[in-house]
Amino acid sequence: MSTTNGHTSGQTIYLGAFAHCTALQEVEICEAGAIGVDSDGKIAFIERDIGDIPAYQLRERKEGWEHAKFVQIQDQGFFFPGFIDTHIHASQYPNSGIFGKSTLLDWLNTYTFPLESSFTDLTKARRIYARVVNRTLSHGTTTACYYATVHVEATNLLSDICLSKGQRAFVGRVCMDQLSPDYYRDESTEAAIEATEACIAHVSKIDPKHHFITPIITPRFAPSCSEGCLSALGKLAKETGLPIQTHISENKSEIELVAEMFPSSKSYTDVYDKAGLLNSKTILAHAVHLTPEERALVRSRDAKISHCPASNTALTSGAAPVRVLLDEGLTVGLGTDVSGGYSPSILEEARQAILVSRHVAMVDGDAAKLSTEEALWLATRGGAKVVGLENRVGGFEVGMDWDAQMISLDVVSEDGELEDAQNKGPVDVFMWESWPDRINKWFYGGDDRNTAAVWVKGRLVHATPKYRG
Ligand SMILES: [Zn+2]
Repeated sequence: MSTTNGHTSGQTIYLGAFAHCTALQEVEICEAGAIGVDSDGKIAFIERDIGDIPAYQLRERKEGWEHAKFVQIQDQGFFFPGFIDTHIHASQYPNSGIFGKSTLLDWLNTYTFPLESSFTDLTKARRIYARVVNRTLSHGTTTACYYATVHVEATNLLSDICLSKGQRAFVGRVCMDQLSPDYYRDESTEAAIEATEACIAHVSKIDPKHHFITPIITPRFAPSCSEGCLSALGKLAKETGLPIQTHISENKSEIELVAEMFPSSKSYTDVYDKAGLLNSKTILAHAVHLTPEERALVRSRDAKISHCPASNTALTSGAAPVRVLLDEGLTVGLGTDVSGGYSPSILEEARQAILVSRHVAMVDGDAAKLSTEEALWLATRGGAKVVGLENRVGGFEVGMDWDAQMISLDVVSEDGELEDAQNKGPVDVFMWESWPDRINKWFYGGDDRNTAAVWVKGRLVHATPKYRG
């Protein structure tokens, strides 16, 4: 038995249907599976078809698993890998849905900076951060890349909360030493670096090997950082080997602003490259309007892209050409970009990725359309690659961690009621649907009411009252 933050997790065999992405265009579905997870939360074996074998017999057949407990799928559901949110502003969570008709630069001044600047109040910070972690876990997000604020104490609190609630997280203290309001900015480059180092030191204390929490170097975006600050952060990234997250090429006015502010750089991408901020551990959010030269530069540095379609539509930023990005060999995941994006759900983001791809297709042709399988890939395997955890999470493979969600779908009875009166999910299954159709019905109609339980590294981190029994 091992303990994770005081929560014991023994050997467990997960029984029932499971589905996961095995290629960009492919979802593997096993209707009668069994997945054994060891006491460290790692997948030890996968049986793809156990047929009608009773559970106890399966346990007896596996040497050393005689005392394993079972978790049986509920209703007509399936296990699915946890979602990975590659771009979310934890501090902006209370503003979800509040953006009016603003676009990026006025949205920042009207809604975002006033809220973020208030995180000197740690009681308020705790309330917001605890809620956003609970909420994203309830939507099946097992890994999140968070932007916090400029405040060291509040950022450290976010790391503490993620660790105690069991969510895998990249936590970034936001750096911004220019073109920001006087009431909310770093006083100098030195102050930005010192504060970032303090947050890195805190994570070294609470999770030295970064099993769950990794600090991430976070220049807000080029316009709010001086060249000196960007270069100092690039140097810090090189010294520490830590990942980097920032925004790029989200909105046309922003791109013009970057060209004015950084006249010696060839492009927005070049600003980051010159500062040493473009490498294989860099997560670039949005990338809506990158030129072919910029995309080639991103690819040559093996930097990753977080596609945030809900936010890009809400703030009228543009429609990112995801098919082009994928065809050119770029690594893409999904980001909710709360609160530019209105929803903390990666399932909602995956739907928005599909719809945005349809709008791109109306101009560029049908090849731009993403399929359900592709959107699920972006939400899991793609996201895992973006955050550098593709060997640990995003799918079900022996040796990977059990970061998973139990999806439950409600069955309609003969009289048109639900077979289980406790269920109140939005998806109705009539039982004539094929398994791929059931997954499509969940994809387009499902929400957190269908997410019955969520595990990170084998630890149960969220469960609906019905699952808990
Ligand atoms: Zn953002």
